Amino acid sequence: MVMELKNKRVLVVGLGKSGLSAARFLKSKGAKVTVSDARPATVIAELPTLLDEGISVEAGSHGLLTFRRQDLIVVSPGVPADVPELKQVRAMGMRIIGELELGASFLEGEVVAITGSNGKTTTTTLVGEILKASGRLTLVGGNIGTPVTEMVAESIKLSGHDGQTADPSASPQDDKSKNTAQDDKFKGVWSVLEVSSFQLETVETFKPKIALVLNITPDHLDRHGSFEAYAAAKTRITEFQTADDFLVLNAEDVNTQLVAAKTKAQIYWFSPKRQIKQGAFVHGESILFTAREGGKPEPVMPVAEIPLAGAHNVENVLAAVCAARLAGVDAKTIRTAVRSFKAVEHRLEFVRELGGVRYFNDSKATNVDATVKAVESFAGGIHLILGGKDKDSNYAVMGQLLRERVKTVITIGSAAEKIERELAGVVKIEAAETMQRAVALAHEQASAGDTVLLAPACASFDQFENYEHRGRVFKELVMALR
Ligand code: ADP
Repeated sequence: MVMELKNKRVLVVGLGKSGLSAARFLKSKGAKVTVSDARPATVIAELPTLLDEGISVEAGSHGLLTFRRQDLIVVSPGVPADVPELKQVRAMGMRIIGELELGASFLEGEVVAITGSNGKTTTTTLVGEILKASGRLTLVGGNIGTPVTEMVAESIKLSGHDGQTADPSASPQDDKSKNTAQDDKFKGVWSVLEVSSFQLETVETFKPKIALVLNITPDHLDRHGSFEAYAAAKTRITEFQTADDFLVLNAEDVNTQLVAAKTKAQIYWFSPKRQIKQGAFVHGESILFTAREGGKPEPVMPVAEIPLAGAHNVENVLAAVCAARLAGVDAKTIRTAVRSFKAVEHRLEFVRELGGVRYFNDSKATNVDATVKAVESFAGGIHLILGGKDKDSNYAVMGQLLRERVKTVITIGSAAEKIERELAGVVKIEAAETMQRAVALAHEQASAGDTVLLAPACASFDQFENYEHRGRVFKELVMALR
């Protein structure tokens, strides 16, 4: 449902990557655009160019008058919903949407949307790779990489609706010959979107053809207020789906089962543990997919061919298998694409092997749940680097698991003392303070057959710019070991 923006007064609140993209997109549609950011003008690097582009800027604080003068407000996912000016104009009945709603309403073609507490980026990237391998014109973005408003022009171009022919170079492995005639309705452009709970809070019409909810575990409770509110935001991924659409859910996660109760879409489940009537599952050594209840399960691939470590990645692959089959991709193409998939950087990424010791970078493990999954990926002999900026986490819950599989915990960052206190007596702990010292200690202590794992269970901001920076520093130190 395309909205009319010409000459409309639109305010973009929050000048992050998606806010900037939204502002420029709105301008290109002929809207009168103002952006508002709480940061002072001096730290907003893009300010001069925005002014040159004819976009008004309000920096340093928000003005209620600016908010009231608009036809539409586009709010960035980083901006809390309880900003006083927002609350007031919301009460006045002002239309407030997010960048996802804005962009998605202009996207051409079909949408696969992926949410969950953990595994979004991995699964989104994987689904994108599979669709590309099948020859579909595929775009990937959303909460990762490219904002949705920035994908719009490309989706229109690829669909040929702007009068130009689609550019086949956008799909690296053009292998259209494999698709059967019945799949033709699934040709055209596909946008694979990672969507966060914050983005979903502000959708009004967002209707993905295929929606995935990988898992719902406590996260971001500081922003959403309660677990119920957080789960409700994730449920909005299916709010506007109809019986023509598909919803893919994790059969082993009770919280995603709550989403099932709210949907009108056709539900497909995935499970690594038991046979599923409609969806993807592991049986013996293989992944199978059943297209409809009562149908015969078809083999997709052996589990052993998944090139990613960790049981959680089997779940991500199962979810991706459902999405890809529902998009009409055949099992053989899925198998080939999964086999050549490389772990996304900083997600249980293999770094190197030195003297029989394998080094893994899971810097994205910024909460305890992700660290638990990382540790569960290895049978034992782990030297685990933990720490960073604490997020009010409970590290003691890892006690039993660490006792079984971890030889040494090596701590870094400001959470070190708390971690040492909560895990005292459970496992051998060495305080390293810095990453440099941590890698040196791990190298010293690990023997052939062991694994050195960075999966810190904490945010990175005490010692690093972000988790990517932390992961890169770790990898450089590991590559420098002799
Ligand atoms: P997100 O985009 O949701 O943060 P990522 O793919 O970036 O997800 O992975 C984030 C962290 O969670 C990484 O440490 C990764 O190893 C772990 N992880 C990935 N998939 C899952 C899953 N299905 N369940 C639990 N943890 C996962």
